[in-house]
Amino acid sequence: MKSYRKELWFDTKKRREFQNITSTVEGCLQESGIQEGILLCNAMHITSSIFINDDESGLHQDFETWLERLAPEKPHSQYKHNGYEDNGDAHLKRTIMGREVVVAVTGGKLDFGPWEQIFYGEFDGKRKKRVLVKIIGE
Ligand code: ZN
Repeated sequence: MKSYRKELWFDTKKRREFQNITSTVEGCLQESGIQEGILLCNAMHITSSIFINDDESGLHQDFETWLERLAPEKPHSQYKHNGYEDNGDAHLKRTIMGREVVVAVTGGKLDFGPWEQIFYGEFDGKRKKRVLVKIIGE
């Protein structure tokens, strides 16, 4: 069995941002040489997410509106977590959007449904953060 591991780095300009990382993850899969197996992709920080959904800008605005309704960033004082930090909302948003995705690898490709794309979701950005890609198979 082959095993592959890579860390991807992110440093978003905005506090909250969604980035389509599908082609980067596909590049990892090519580099791994694995044809049949499982790919795991997870955020290594507790205020960012990896999730799969549609690459449609209206939907991304809907996510932002929905997350702000559930866990508004301000006022910062509404969160007990915000004693030394101001990112209580980001921890909650990350929990809703998820830590990781697992994708089947078939014939050397990500075995996606028709509109599935992988996204990095940042909720407390403007600093360097990592994402792990782990692929096992043969
Ligand atoms: Zn925090």
